[in-house]
Amino acid sequence: MVKAPNSLAVIFSGLAALFGVWFWLQVSINEEAAWARFVILSESGATARALGHGNQTIALRQQQGVDEEQLAPLKYKVAKAEEKAGSPRRAIDLYRDVLMSEWKTTLSERELDGVKLSLARLELGEGNVQGAVPLLAEFLDKAGDEAAGYEKPSPDHPPSPHLAALVSAIDALSESLPIFPDKDILIGSQDEQLARTGDMVKLGGFYAKVEGGEHAAAGLLAAAHETRLALLGAADADTIHTILLLGPVYERLGHLQQAEKLYLEAVHAQEQAKGSNSPELSLYLRLLANVYLAQGRYTEAEALNVHIRRIFRDSYGGRRYLANQGRDRRMDVNRPVSIEFPLEKDYKASDLVAAGDYEIPLSKAKDSEEMSIRLGLEVSAEGQTMPKKLEQLIDLCAQQSGEHLSLRSGYRSFKTQSWLYENIDHRGKVTRPGTSEHQLGLAVDIDVDYRLMRNSDRAYQCFENHAWEYGFILSYPKGNTYLDGPDTYEPWHWRYVGLQTALLYREAGPLNKPQEFLAALPCYEERAQAGLWTTAGDEDICLSRQQKLTDSDIVLSPTPKWGDQDPVATSNGGGR
Ligand SMILES: [Zn+2]
Repeated sequence: MVKAPNSLAVIFSGLAALFGVWFWLQVSINEEAAWARFVILSESGATARALGHGNQTIALRQQQGVDEEQLAPLKYKVAKAEEKAGSPRRAIDLYRDVLMSEWKTTLSERELDGVKLSLARLELGEGNVQGAVPLLAEFLDKAGDEAAGYEKPSPDHPPSPHLAALVSAIDALSESLPIFPDKDILIGSQDEQLARTGDMVKLGGFYAKVEGGEHAAAGLLAAAHETRLALLGAADADTIHTILLLGPVYERLGHLQQAEKLYLEAVHAQEQAKGSNSPELSLYLRLLANVYLAQGRYTEAEALNVHIRRIFRDSYGGRRYLANQGRDRRMDVNRPVSIEFPLEKDYKASDLVAAGDYEIPLSKAKDSEEMSIRLGLEVSAEGQTMPKKLEQLIDLCAQQSGEHLSLRSGYRSFKTQSWLYENIDHRGKVTRPGTSEHQLGLAVDIDVDYRLMRNSDRAYQCFENHAWEYGFILSYPKGNTYLDGPDTYEPWHWRYVGLQTALLYREAGPLNKPQEFLAALPCYEERAQAGLWTTAGDEDICLSRQQKLTDSDIVLSPTPKWGDQDPVATSNGGGR
């Protein structure tokens, strides 16, 4: 019996098995061979020829059903070759697969950053900002504080790898992002788009600080602004925040019209939301005014400045003046003292020192009360003390004038002032206790050739010209009514306020009104910081505010009682 069908079945099944083995061998041999060729060719620089073999290997393994985790290392290598050969789309797909895999955790941080940076630049090259931005934002997050303090790198302070990566993406960003976008660049759901604008604003803020990064910054911020404007509206705080970053970048790039357009948008939005006299408006008005100035549109700029001044007068000036009234000024070097601003009866500075311990010529015995003055250490000016500055000022003016200068009176206690007031013929000569700057310990009466300084002395001229450089001002100028009497001009009486305040008084203070100036000092400081100087003919906002408030809002401390003290140290005149 011939069992032909069985034999045939055996033969066929044998052949099938053989074919299976052959096929497996073919594939695996080809696959190994293909990969070997990819490695050899890509290492020898023949990237374009290598790629066919690399991609073939991946395809063959995918046919076999090899899982993604095992393919990831191959894809990583092929992606690099594709990037090198200039085939962005394929490289992007492969890199994305690598980043999706678990295998990526076997890469070093540097290698992984390399994948992300490559991917970001390839995506930008393809115009896919959406794909690149989260990757770059990740670098920014990793750089953290370093990015916030980014400065031009130097050999001593090279940028971190993450910052270096960000800087290396500048060209790709500049090329792919228009700085005046005419359509929405972002896609996806509203939430996705808004999340993306958050990254873009952070990145834009960083690139705005980097040399050569303005274009990239403008592109990122402009895209974020367009999207926020469309989705959130012009009045939204995030939209306005974007304008505050983008406007100055446009200005730096010389695109003044576009900056103007943005600032106008912010002004209108703020006006609608908060009214045309809201203090918040002044920032945007100032930005706009600066752009007008840069464009030579002076009339428009000045109109805005007038508006800003009005806003300032109506809000900041008064608010600040009230704050000044409320603060504890007992140890304050800048405290005003006059009939209107008297000192407390028990006021005594804790930092009195003997003037005789310095190179200061004295008119009286070294250990008398009036030969002490305050140290008056300024926090802002390290090591600058009042006695040291007085020493230098007297030395300079004695040399310049050829006259003999000495200290007649420094500190005077409430008690001493009371005794003088009671016992010396005080009509117009001795001021009321509590109203003298001498109790403050910061005032000095200067003798010229052993009598009180006069405005005809050469030394007086020197003081007028140079005292401010040492932190001193003339407290009782001609025509003042700070003390008892119709005109209590005292050319010998100089008051230490510190260098910064003396300079501010000279530059921005009201002429010959030192006590009013000191009373409204925060107002002047704020104006100076804002660059708002009072010009000739203009009303002095800080002063007018002060007068208005004196009537109604301000409660001054009561004038201290005096007159029940024991007689103490004697004095020989100049009792103010
Ligand atoms: Zn005096």
